[in-house]
Amino acid sequence: METVILGAGLAGISAARNCNGTIFEKEKDIGGTCRSIKEQGFIFDLGIHVLHTKNRYVLDLLMEHKNLNLKAKRRLAWIYSHKRLTKYPFQVNTYGLPKDIIAQCLNGFINRTAKPKGKYDNYEDWVYANFGAGISDHFYLPYSEKFWTVKAKELTTDWLDLRIPQPDLEDIIKGAISVQKKEFGPNAIFRYPVNGGIQRIAESMHRSDRKIIFSKEAVKIDLDKHRIHFNDHSSTTYKYLISTIPLPELLKIIVGVPKEVIKAGEALRYNSILCINLGIKKQNINSAHWIYFPENKIAAFRISFPGNFSRFTVPEEWSSLQAEVSYSKDRPIGYKDITEKVIKDLIKTKILKAKDKIKLINAKHIKYAYIIYDHNRINNLKIINKFLRAHNIYGSGRYGQWEYFWMDEAILSGKKIAHEIGKKIK
Ligand SMILES: Cc1cc2nc3c(=O)[nH]c(=O)nc-3n(C[C@H](O)[C@H](O)[C@H](O)COP(=O)(O)OP(=O)(O)OC[C@H]3O[C@@H](n4cnc5c(N)ncnc54)[C@H](O)[C@@H]3O)c2cc1C
Repeated sequence: METVILGAGLAGISAARNCNGTIFEKEKDIGGTCRSIKEQGFIFDLGIHVLHTKNRYVLDLLMEHKNLNLKAKRRLAWIYSHKRLTKYPFQVNTYGLPKDIIAQCLNGFINRTAKPKGKYDNYEDWVYANFGAGISDHFYLPYSEKFWTVKAKELTTDWLDLRIPQPDLEDIIKGAISVQKKEFGPNAIFRYPVNGGIQRIAESMHRSDRKIIFSKEAVKIDLDKHRIHFNDHSSTTYKYLISTIPLPELLKIIVGVPKEVIKAGEALRYNSILCINLGIKKQNINSAHWIYFPENKIAAFRISFPGNFSRFTVPEEWSSLQAEVSYSKDRPIGYKDITEKVIKDLIKTKILKAKDKIKLINAKHIKYAYIIYDHNRINNLKIINKFLRAHNIYGSGRYGQWEYFWMDEAILSGKKIAHEIGKKIK
């Protein structure tokens, strides 16, 4: 085959739309990380997934599908801190917190010693420079360590981009003395499919004239023969290979990878997320889309309520929720029975009542969830990509490129690589 694509997630589907490649996917279903789990009438995504793109190509591509039916929603997100709920983002919504905490946040912001617009070598310094001590110590740093599973000092700042809102003093004061009216951040308005969960995006993007072969896990790649072997003992050849599978996994299945490249692959870091999904026999359990939990005494870093994204994700007269717990080699899950701990936390934080009937419990692990931007990442990627490109292998997507991509960026990444290869074929 001329072009082979590994992985039927958004990047792989997008690449296939833009070149004539065949996709080989290890799972039985389309979507990759943008998949939805359907069980007993409930639909759960793999972690919260909402579309908040401003990219015209992606919007046009998705909006043209009538059966995708993306509905715009105004985000309602909270933070649970000091036994209270305040609106997200923390820096402009301290109203409602204990008065001494609000004072620390305001004082810290006003008395910042470093310049917010300066260049910072690590995330901790950036957070202090931008928000001051109070906001950093009460939200950004504990949340960051809980979510990323590593110290903020270990993170660079090149992933930040527009991901964290940086309001001015006026907004911070407004949000300290009354409920903030203004919304902040890229997902203040988001879109979500009315039916089918987030997976509907992946399904609608797939062109029917493009071939996906499911249940084909690539297990070995022979560089000399340009041949990929699959778990069912079949194989195929390629001239160009677009790989959207996680880079560390790709390097493990290529035969004859030089030591230096193996070392670079082993040094790539990521966190994993355990999604604990509950179905509860009660209507409208919470009005929020999601709630963040920066404090360590609560196991999950985020709880979300799928029924508020689309009411068709829960059977009538039921509610559901999803607790996301982050972990990694550096910070394993520290509880013997994490589901029991999550349920206890839900009762402690008054999201559930002890008498509530939980009828469905399932747990899904996302092994590769978020790419950790540590100080060695860029160098390791240079070594890996030089090797792969020399063998006509092109990494694409969030895990194939090893970038903090949102769905729209994964789509664009697949398109870009397909065009690059298209030019070589001509
Ligand atoms: C918890 C979480 C929350 C997120 N929330 C949002 C959000 O709110 N908004 C947003 O825009 N983005 C969000 N994202 C990001 C979004 O999910 C990704 O950007 C996007 O889905 C990545 O698509 P991809 O095709 O690059 O990778 P993937 O979807 O991971 O696709 C890779 C594919 O390769 C397959 N594969 C793996 N190994 C093999 C093999 N050996 N052989 C064959 N196939 C293989 C996999 O099964 C998979 O289908 C979130 C991600 C996570 C983890």
